Amino acid sequence: MGPPILFRHASSLEHETGAHPEGTGRIEAIEAELSRHDWLGFEQREAPAVDLDVLTRVHPNRHVEAVQAMSERGGGAFDADTVASEGSYVAALHAAGGACAMVEALLGGDAPVGFCMLRPPGHHAEPARAMGFCLFNNVAVAARHALDALGLRRVFILDWDVHHGNGTNDIFHTSEEVLFASIHQSPLYPGTGPLEDSGAGSGEGFTINLPVPRDSGEDVWLGLVEHVVAPAARAFEPDLVLVSAGFDAHRADPLAQCLLEASSFAELARHARAIADAAGVPVGAVLEGGYDVGALAASVAATLPALAEGGEPRSVEPDAVTERSAEQIGRFWTLG
Ligand SMILES: [Zn+2]
Repeated sequence: MGPPILFRHASSLEHETGAHPEGTGRIEAIEAELSRHDWLGFEQREAPAVDLDVLTRVHPNRHVEAVQAMSERGGGAFDADTVASEGSYVAALHAAGGACAMVEALLGGDAPVGFCMLRPPGHHAEPARAMGFCLFNNVAVAARHALDALGLRRVFILDWDVHHGNGTNDIFHTSEEVLFASIHQSPLYPGTGPLEDSGAGSGEGFTINLPVPRDSGEDVWLGLVEHVVAPAARAFEPDLVLVSAGFDAHRADPLAQCLLEASSFAELARHARAIADAAGVPVGAVLEGGYDVGALAASVAATLPALAEGGEPRSVEPDAVTERSAEQIGRFWTLG
């Protein structure tokens, strides 16, 4: 196996959002930080555009065409938060395509670990609706691709962005093929993801929503992963671990009020790697949010080596949030 892989593409800088927190400066800040550290040993690869047949396994044609048409018109707004420019459609194709190429590389044995440093982000995008700065749901398209084309049976997705991954939640809500776990500040945009939403139909129990109050710090987040998410994920026996890696739970982030540090994301990454290692499978992360560019760059730089090297995450005692969450999730998964 080769070194860990980092997917990039120049089109990530052509999705122009103007005076908007989800701007090109995010990628520029990460690139500057990583290049100072010789890319932390990651092999850089060019993210291809997604195959439209792969994309439309998640998003109906009319949604793909709506994003394309918006860019061909020169840009516009899907809603108050979600804008597109002339370059957005191509950028979105590469953001989804990078996630799929990462999954192919990981499952092909190229590397045990990958990261997609691409935008626009994806986890708020619903099948037929761009929202929350997201056009296509990159992580969901990659998971669907792994299941449909690459022969996997079970994919675990950990969403540690501070916002609920409502799009991913909805796309796999009735599926037992994807275990989706999201930790998110609540109340906060988009307002979905209560603890009681555990999936539906044959997917009941395969959605794990873990809302946390504002001012939640590293111990709350790590406690939930150690005592709720990790035991459930291990019991699920995934064939692949994916991470919706948002960095907006950082204490400096302007859009949320959680209190993580850059080093907290390294602990979360160690947990993701440990879950993958326990199942003997690879782990790939895709960039979601993170809007203080300095905190974002430092957090990505802390995450990559932790993903690549693994190691024992810091253990914490369960608190009240974890106890309450474990009671709900323990209805579906043996956590002890
Ligand atoms: Zn977010």
